[in-house]
Amino acid sequence: AHLDRIAAVDGDVHAFLHVNEDDALATAADVDARRAAGEELHALAGVPIAVKDVVVTKGMPSTAGSKILEGWIPPYDATLVEKLRAAGLPILGKTNMDEFAMGSSTEHSAYGDTHNPWDLDRIPGGSGGGSAAAVAAFEAPLAIGTDTGGSIRQPGAVTGTVGVKPTYGGVSRYGLIAMASSLDQAGPVTRTVLDSALLHELIGGHDPRDSTSIPEPLPPLVAAARQGALGDLSGLKVGVVTQLQGEGYQPGVLARFHESLELLTKAGAEVVEVSCPSFDYALAAYYLIMPAEASSNLAKFDGMRFGLRVEPTDGPVTAERVMAATRGAGFGDEVKRRVILGTYALSAGYYDAYYGSAQKVRTLIQRDFAAAFAQADVLVSPTAPTTAFKLGEKLDDPLAMYLNDVATIPANLAGVPGISVPNGLAASSEGGADLPTGFQILAPAKADDRL
Ligand code: GLN
Repeated sequence: AHLDRIAAVDGDVHAFLHVNEDDALATAADVDARRAAGEELHALAGVPIAVKDVVVTKGMPSTAGSKILEGWIPPYDATLVEKLRAAGLPILGKTNMDEFAMGSSTEHSAYGDTHNPWDLDRIPGGSGGGSAAAVAAFEAPLAIGTDTGGSIRQPGAVTGTVGVKPTYGGVSRYGLIAMASSLDQAGPVTRTVLDSALLHELIGGHDPRDSTSIPEPLPPLVAAARQGALGDLSGLKVGVVTQLQGEGYQPGVLARFHESLELLTKAGAEVVEVSCPSFDYALAAYYLIMPAEASSNLAKFDGMRFGLRVEPTDGPVTAERVMAATRGAGFGDEVKRRVILGTYALSAGYYDAYYGSAQKVRTLIQRDFAAAFAQADVLVSPTAPTTAFKLGEKLDDPLAMYLNDVATIPANLAGVPGISVPNGLAASSEGGADLPTGFQILAPAKADDRL
């Protein structure tokens, strides 16, 4: 049914870069046979899933949205993909994304735009717009995303889906094509919180192949989601972050946010205001740390080891000239912008002023979180300051694009978990049809069950 749905709507939505039809059907048939034989299977066995193209899948293309990896077929599965396969989830295919997960609109993909199913002229968020659009368009019931600065939660908000960024170290990064290694986390994109809990519990847990993986079991997420569904929030302290509302937030987004705060109060929660003054510098710190790490991670795309290789036609074919020609042709403008920013921030003489200062700000943000979680059990904000904007609207203005992540980035800098849940519709910035908004909840590290 989902393959039929993909065939029917993906010409318009373009959520998928690769559809894995035969293999998905074979897995589904295998699960049916095992279930018929009385085998006890995982709750999600037979439930199909879409996987963001930055996650490597054995025998299936994995481009990370970049021309530089066109034609590369990974010889291994990411740990989380191994877990999906072992539990019997048919993999429907690979979803579109901003190149190397750099962007907030999926317009930086080398393979064309993904369209928001709510309004095909609008962006589905980014970088994981393909995963969110696939779930929102009913092409997949579940998807995997990755979140370095908001790429699961912000697409979730603008497509009306649930997106979870787990605690840093909670889900293995083995087999994720790295963007910024100290920030990257993979997580679920689904239509309900319980689905996210089921998927998160399946893909999470310690992995010795990822040195930053937490060597402890996850908290019991599915049990927590079922408990949460009972709706009694008495005793829960909810902290509204002063710095994550107000200027730059669309009025309709704020209106829905405040209505949800009232619902939380009615359900028994105590809503308090908490101030995190260093959050005002989170975006600036992120746009030094992330490009610095990305410039280093992307150095391996040299025209020799993976995918694309371009040899210069004018003059000698030296290693350095092959690298320059390959990277010149293989990387898009946004990736080049960040590699240049990152190498500059790390260069001798500037390191302390830029990268070093950004790391200090990161520490201050972690301290703000620690102080805030001493006053409240969870912190909340709108997930994104705006509803989905029009395709092309912010493409020539990188700073405007970056500002869409103000509310999601602090969690990545501190490693804490976050979820975006659908929060009702609001008028778009130009008026017109109503569009989805998201409600973000953040919890202390390793307290993903609280989400
Ligand atoms: N939009 C942010 C960026 O461009 C976040 C990306 C992400 O989480 N992968 O960096």
